[in-house]
Amino acid sequence: MKALAVFPGRARSLHLIDVPKPSLDEVSNGRGVLVRVLRVGVDGTDKEIDAAEYGQAPPGDDYLITGHEGFGQVDAVGPGVTELAPGDFVVATVRRPGSSLYDRIGTSDMTTDDVYFERGINQRHGYLAEYYVDDAEFIVKVPTGLKHVGVLLEPMTVVEKGIAQAYEIQRRLRVWRPKRAAVMGAGTIGLLAALVLRLRGLDVTVFGLRPAPFLNADLVGMLGARYLSSAEDPVVEASRQFGPFDLVFEATGYSPVVFDSMQALGKNGVLVLSSVTGGDRRVEVPADRINLEFVLGNKVMVGTVNANREYFERGVEDMALAETAFPGWLPRLLTHPIAGLDHHRDMMDALTSGSDVIKVFCEVAPLPPMQYAQLR
Ligand code: BGC
Ligand code: ZN
Repeated sequence: MKALAVFPGRARSLHLIDVPKPSLDEVSNGRGVLVRVLRVGVDGTDKEIDAAEYGQAPPGDDYLITGHEGFGQVDAVGPGVTELAPGDFVVATVRRPGSSLYDRIGTSDMTTDDVYFERGINQRHGYLAEYYVDDAEFIVKVPTGLKHVGVLLEPMTVVEKGIAQAYEIQRRLRVWRPKRAAVMGAGTIGLLAALVLRLRGLDVTVFGLRPAPFLNADLVGMLGARYLSSAEDPVVEASRQFGPFDLVFEATGYSPVVFDSMQALGKNGVLVLSSVTGGDRRVEVPADRINLEFVLGNKVMVGTVNANREYFERGVEDMALAETAFPGWLPRLLTHPIAGLDHHRDMMDALTSGSDVIKVFCEVAPLPPMQYAQLR
């Protein structure tokens, strides 16, 4: 079968390879699921992997099949699988368990191990291939009515985890009725965070760099949220008008914004950090003031990475809710389809220098037609 792989450590090495099709018996106990890949999204992590800044091959291989935002259809299942059947649409989670306590209770997203295993990213092959096989435990069913947006589920789970964790943390307050939220960044994650917070009924302000009007700002508006360009409305000042924010979700990829976010956060508020920043940027901050306001305001800041199965399931529910509350909104994020694994250069070009990009994704195989319920 065809697949896309990099040689980790070698920049711009993404290339087409031919590898054996995986088989069900790679998974023990008859729990294997063979998935035919339909679509795979790419993001900043894939950009870093192709730039050789990130990513490792599985032990014994010199290449890594990339792609962690998969969407596909079950082709075959092992005898021990009852929860999935051929024809089901599915998305697989990304991280695989290591050995810490957290890994052993199904929460590998909370691992304390130094090494983590992530399909398409670190030491495990990914989904940019015609097929993959995995244990049913890591495969989540997507209803047929969401197949046109199923490829957005993995990025959605990053947001689901961050927001669920924020609510969980805020149980410390006995009563928490968040009213206003801010989202830093209007890329895929920022837009999805705005969506989920709107679905939870919050007044949402999204800060991005680029001045409106442009597609992302329009999409924010369609949710009944507010878009501000931080170039025109600096975050700390704008928070006096539209805040104080009970919840701030940071997803800019630019770490200095974290310190503005700390200042924009209201009393008893929670700040969720989701940007993976590999550099070594330094900034000067009003440390005493930020600390004082955190202490006197009982504020919390939490980091979040990856997502376990529970957040994939929640993501499916929210995507279904989104398609009824804001019909047609999610599909508009799918700005840059790339036809076929062969066009991987176009895919990387769109990802690194495309204009008006929200989500670049590879159409590995066409989506099958909708199956409507029928009386027999
Ligand atoms: C992925 C996460 C992953 C993280 C760190 C992100 O792009 O969506 O699943 O945990 O990168 O590797
Ligand atoms: Zn990702």
